[in-house]
Amino acid sequence: MPKSVFLSALCLFVLVTSSITSASYFWSSSEPQVSESLSEPKTVKKIPTVFTGTVEYSFVSSVLDTGVTPTEVKSLLDLTTDHFNVLNQASKGGQFAFKTDMDKKKERFVRAFYYKNSDKEFYAYRGNDNQIYDQDGFQFNSLSRLQMPFKRHYRISSSFSLNRRHPVTNRITPHYGTDYATPVGTPVLAVAPGKVLVSRHDHYAGNYITIKHGNGVLSRYMHLKKSKVKRGDYVAAGDIIALSGNTGRTTGPHLHVELIEKGIPIDYAKTMRDFNRRESWANRSRSMQAVNMFHTLKGDLNQQTIALATP
Ligand SMILES: [Zn+2]
Repeated sequence: MPKSVFLSALCLFVLVTSSITSASYFWSSSEPQVSESLSEPKTVKKIPTVFTGTVEYSFVSSVLDTGVTPTEVKSLLDLTTDHFNVLNQASKGGQFAFKTDMDKKKERFVRAFYYKNSDKEFYAYRGNDNQIYDQDGFQFNSLSRLQMPFKRHYRISSSFSLNRRHPVTNRITPHYGTDYATPVGTPVLAVAPGKVLVSRHDHYAGNYITIKHGNGVLSRYMHLKKSKVKRGDYVAAGDIIALSGNTGRTTGPHLHVELIEKGIPIDYAKTMRDFNRRESWANRSRSMQAVNMFHTLKGDLNQQTIALATP
């Protein structure tokens, strides 16, 4: 049994048990503490904090091969949870680089992670505030990083409104979404990266999809002709998730897009306009450490690639 296979099995065991026994972010390490012998001369060993590698047998075994502990791997998976499914999406041949750091309890954890293969790139950084930042220094999946659900521009046929007269029932009913006049079959794009919570049919919403974006933000897409994702799928911003349609209770073909923050419906179109107008709002919580670390890790991986290519 290769060492790495054994280690990854061990690591998975640790991950499972730790997620059962503890809901906290850092599980307490049960590793034996090495007691220092007084007679030995004290040497300060510099511990490497930046690691690079290539996915071979499996992602976890390849990360363990760099010499980090299962605890550190656990913190790496915590960092990417809800944003990128490393266990499935980090495929053979993909390259990764990550940076470890020490927390207040003197436990090592993965501060930043970068992954790339021929068609994908992913980066995440954990700030001292415990928030997760992307390569541009923005909080992951925060509302400042929304995009339009289409490649082209479509007219808004009905806006977000808390006192709209419903076109079918003629009653005053809040309209929690923004309706775009899209012809049937228009590709619908995810407005931010996330995990598919719901993809099913409903009498009123027709075929609809709900995506969880982390930080308590959900997006919902209704009246679809056809969904192209299923529950549990991870999507990147701009991924085609469906074709727009005219299913459920509608008066004509359109896409209804909804945004929900911590359980409260918010105006998607207005949110988009506000951010385009005042980008400084988004800059408030920008982390330049996250941006700098992105370039460091990416640079280190490129160095590794050059070293591999040079005999
Ligand atoms: Zn609507």
